[in-house]
Amino acid sequence: MPDAVPSDLRPVPPDDLHRFTMALCAAMGSGPEEARIVADHLVLANLSGHDSHGVGMLPTYHASWKAGALVPNRAGRTTVEDGPILAVDGEMGYGQVIALKATERAIAIARRHGVCVLTVANAHHIGRIGTYSEAAVAAGLVSVQFCNVLSTQAHVAAHGSRDARLGTNPVSVGVPAVADADPFLLDMATSAAAYGKIRVAHNKGVAVAPGLIIDADGRDTTRTEAIFGEPRGALLPMAGHKGYGLAVAAELLAGALSGQGTMATRETGPGVVNGLFAVLVDPSRLPGGAALGGETAALSDYLRGAPRRDPAEAVLVAGDPERATRRDRAAALPVDAGTLRQLEETADALGVAPTWTRSP
Ligand code: NAD
Repeated sequence: MPDAVPSDLRPVPPDDLHRFTMALCAAMGSGPEEARIVADHLVLANLSGHDSHGVGMLPTYHASWKAGALVPNRAGRTTVEDGPILAVDGEMGYGQVIALKATERAIAIARRHGVCVLTVANAHHIGRIGTYSEAAVAAGLVSVQFCNVLSTQAHVAAHGSRDARLGTNPVSVGVPAVADADPFLLDMATSAAAYGKIRVAHNKGVAVAPGLIIDADGRDTTRTEAIFGEPRGALLPMAGHKGYGLAVAAELLAGALSGQGTMATRETGPGVVNGLFAVLVDPSRLPGGAALGGETAALSDYLRGAPRRDPAEAVLVAGDPERATRRDRAAALPVDAGTLRQLEETADALGVAPTWTRSP
C-alpha cells in the first residue's frame, strides 16, 4: 500500500530530487554512473509510492558512508560463475549498483541456460527489491527474489516473541505479461509493514495502523516511539507465523547460502547489509512458457473484475498500486517536512546545495 498523503508535504519535481541525489552521491565520492543508478533507484521508489525506500534513505547512506560501511565505486566481486550459477560479493558497495549489475549478468545467464541462480552477499542496502524483478521481467524472464537484512538492530519479532530478531527480509516475484498488459510484480517486506514506513510515519509525527508494531513488553501499539525510542519494541511479522516463515527462508537463502551469514551468526557493524537469492527463469523453456504472458494478463483481468467488498476500493493485483502512483506523481513528489529537513542537514554536511527552496 503506498504511503498515506501527509498534511505537511511539499511538492518537489522528481528531476530536482534526481539531481540532488546525484550531487550527494558525487560529494561522497561516487562516479557519475553510480550516482545515476542510485538516483534512478531512489527517485523511482518515491514515484512508485515507496517513500520508505526513496531519497529519504540518503541520510542513512551518509551515516553508513561516514562509518566506512558504505564504500563508493564498488562493482561487486564474482565469487562463483559456473554454468547457471552466479555468486557476487558486494564488498559493501552501493546495493543498488551491485544488485542491478549482478541482475544484468544473471539475465544473460538465464537466456543462455534457461535459468540462473544468483546470490549476492555483503551489499549495502539494495533498496526496493522489485527493481530487480522489474529488470528481469523487462527481459522476458520470471523472477523470484529473497533478500535478508542485517543490521546492528534487528527490527522484526520472531513470531510469538516480544524481541526483535530478524530484518524485514523482503520477497519479490515477477512474471511477464503480453505486450499490452501489466506484468505481475509482487514486492513486499515480510514484516507487517516495511521498517521505512514506520520511519516515514515517525517523521510525520503520525501513528501507524494497529497490528504493525509492539512495544518492548510485547503489547500492541500504534505509537512509533515504541520503535524509535527506548526501550525498543519490534515490528510484527506479516501474517503471523506465515510471514515469519518466509522471513526465516530469506535469512537462510539470501544470508546463509550466499555465504554472508545470518542474524544468528554474522557479526553486524554499522550500515545495512543485504544478501540476495534470486532465481531467474526463461519461461520459453517450460511447457507453459508460450502462453504465460497471456495467462498473466487473463488472470489479472479476471481478478480485477471480481466484485468489490467495498465499492470505493478496487480489486487490484500486485504491481497495480505502484503503476498508478507513478502516473499520479510524475510531475511532483510529495516530500514531508521531516524528510526534507533531514535531507537539508545531509546536504549541509556535504557542502551540497538543495535543489528546492529551504524549509523555513
Ligand atoms: P507494500 O505493502 O506497499 O506492497 C506489497 C505488495 O503488495 C506490492 O507488490 C504491491 O503491488 C502489492 N499490493 C499493495 N496493495 C495491494 C492491493 N490492494 N491489492 C493487491 N496487491 C497490492 O510494500 P512493503 O511490504 O511495505 O514493502 C515496500 C518496499 O520495501 C518494497 O519495495 C521492498 O522491496 C522494500 N524493502 C526493502 C528492504 C531492504 O532491506 N532492501 C527491506 C524491506 C522492504
